[in-house]
Amino acid sequence: MAEWEKLIPKPRSRFLRVKCLKCGNEQIVFSHAANRVNCNVCGTELAEPAGGRAKIKGEIVAVFE
Ligand SMILES: [Zn+2]
Repeated sequence: MAEWEKLIPKPRSRFLRVKCLKCGNEQIVFSHAANRVNCNVCGTELAEPAGGRAKIKGEIVAVFE
């Protein structure tokens, strides 16, 4: 199993847990989101696409690699 996993290249993209600065809601945002991401609770924009990589507007509380 471990040998098999070494063959897979690590992606440069990541999943981020972003906290909404307005209401405190936390949700998962793809680091290279191609579309705008809005808070599921209050609708505040949490991320917008910026040349392939998303620009995160909230607070990044965790990164999943
Ligand atoms: Zn919110």
